[in-house]
Amino acid sequence: MTVLCANSIDSAISSLFGPSVKVVDRQRVSGRDINRAYSLELSSGECVFLKSNRAGLLDMFTAEAHGIEALRATGTIGAPEPLAVGTDENNAFLIMEYLSSAPRRSDYWETFGHELAMLHRAKCGPRFGFPTDNYIGSTPQQNAHMDSWVAFFRERRLIPQMKLAWRLLDERTRHNLTRITDRLDTLLPEPAFPSLIHGDLWSGNALCGPDGKAWILDPAAYVGHFEAELAMTELFGGFPERFYRAYDEVNPIDRGYADRRDLYNLYHLLNHLNLFGLSYLSNVSSIANRYA
Ligand code: ADP
Repeated sequence: MTVLCANSIDSAISSLFGPSVKVVDRQRVSGRDINRAYSLELSSGECVFLKSNRAGLLDMFTAEAHGIEALRATGTIGAPEPLAVGTDENNAFLIMEYLSSAPRRSDYWETFGHELAMLHRAKCGPRFGFPTDNYIGSTPQQNAHMDSWVAFFRERRLIPQMKLAWRLLDERTRHNLTRITDRLDTLLPEPAFPSLIHGDLWSGNALCGPDGKAWILDPAAYVGHFEAELAMTELFGGFPERFYRAYDEVNPIDRGYADRRDLYNLYHLLNHLNLFGLSYLSNVSSIANRYA
């Protein structure tokens, strides 16, 4: 990883921007439940973005930085450059490029669709997984490589979430989920090519950057099937139709995808059940019932 490792925010800032550069202002950015987020204004006039959490979560930020670097290395779509990770007394932190907002380009959604499709077509792999484990929300996500996508989705995605959720599930849902994992080869195809995916792409993890285009944030990146990514974009309301049309121009979406979408989203819904509780149980149960 090329990102700097530092033992304090101040030392990271002076290594990155020069010994005399200091933080002169810190503004809280309204984030979500997982991390605290701030914009830091520097004495040089520049701004950086800071996420912090308790020290034990340093590996979460390191994994996030690895994921962003992998996405950026494809040169296909914007993702803010990770600058430093470290632990400052009691807190782990990640410092990254600050994205100032600009008005959206008129073709914002088309460009987003094209660029995400280019990410998915970028050379990667050949195996499914990622060099390091990472997190989906705050749940650990296993990424040890496998040759089969279907086996990967079963062993590294569905089964770990099922184990975490087991005590919350009724008998029928347990039975249905077990049937799904047993016959997953008949429900999912192996992809024609592997794709590096963001891994947690919903509308909250895309931001309009200074160029008026969509930049993607906070990945849970790995090499998988791009259909799993498209499915997640549709989970909480979806992106506008013109995003998907543009995506399809660069990376055609198979007709059978619509039948697989909810099965891919079972992973995220089980994760939401594990993280946020029983309000997600009926979604999990009805999808499990449908595919079993
Ligand atoms: P969390 O890990 O807590 O989910 P995010 O990475 O999603 O945090 O960031 C929280 C919010 O902060 C985002 O929704 C976005 O509005 C803003 N944000 C994230 N990264 C940047 C950045 N590099 N520059 C400016 N704002 C950002």
